[in-house]
Amino acid sequence: MSYLVFDQVSKRYGETEVVAPFDLEVAEGEFVAFLGPSGCGKTTLMRMVGGLERPSSGRLLLRGEALQSPDRRRGMVFQSYSAFPWLTVAGNVAYGMRYRRDLSAAEKTERTAHFLALVGLTDFAQSWPNRISGGMRQRVAIARTLAAGSEILLMDEPFGALDAQRREFLQLELRRIQLEERKTVIFVTHDVEEAAFLADRVIVFTRRPARLMARVDVTARIGSDRTLDIREGADFFALRNELLHHIRATASPEEDAA
Ligand code: ADP
Ligand code: MG
Repeated sequence: MSYLVFDQVSKRYGETEVVAPFDLEVAEGEFVAFLGPSGCGKTTLMRMVGGLERPSSGRLLLRGEALQSPDRRRGMVFQSYSAFPWLTVAGNVAYGMRYRRDLSAAEKTERTAHFLALVGLTDFAQSWPNRISGGMRQRVAIARTLAAGSEILLMDEPFGALDAQRREFLQLELRRIQLEERKTVIFVTHDVEEAAFLADRVIVFTRRPARLMARVDVTARIGSDRTLDIREGADFFALRNELLHHIRATASPEEDAA
């Protein structure tokens, strides 16, 4: 059975069509990037997958079951992550498990330690969020979502506010974490390089209303092991150019809504 299915999903607000109906199947453990220009409807798409918005038409299915309200299977990581300033880094990660009655206090402590180690923040467990970098705060958000037990990570331009070096570092980290934890990831970005470097498959959307315009199988082209060497190679360059070409075809920048 298919894992995550978009079946003629669309969204409109009143007269405004934001996302035109489209079909897509995402495999379990797949890393999919949604690439599209700013304002095209990517966040709206993500909110639908997360259950924060209802599609205006069509259905979203997880293992054949219709998705509706938010639940812990889908965890969101946003661009500007608001860690609770009154909780330590470890406290913020543990907060993701607050509704997990199936876990004992000892298990929660153990999971907190495990996911902090996974994102490389063991030494910062007792730090306060406002004392660590933006990149570290995004790693806290990833750890919290994983600790909560999410099987799908929904990431909405999570590295958008970071400088280029931190961004590249977190891209490598995210790819490593995803391969280790075998989570399904839907990653929204307007950045062609980021989509090409991270994803197994890139889904390109046009400007608003977002229409699915291309599906590009990245792993078939550059393999699943992503390193900085891959990023400098000819295959990656060709892939990036192909995606740029698709994105340019979506609209001229002056016409963009946002
Ligand atoms: P992106 O994340 O790709 O930049 P969004 O999904 O945030 O795009 O927004 C897509 C379009 O939908 C924008 O033009 C925005 O103004 C519109 N939009 C988003 N949310 C609402 C809403 N609640 N009501 C009306 N229009 C909305
Ligand atoms: Mg957005």
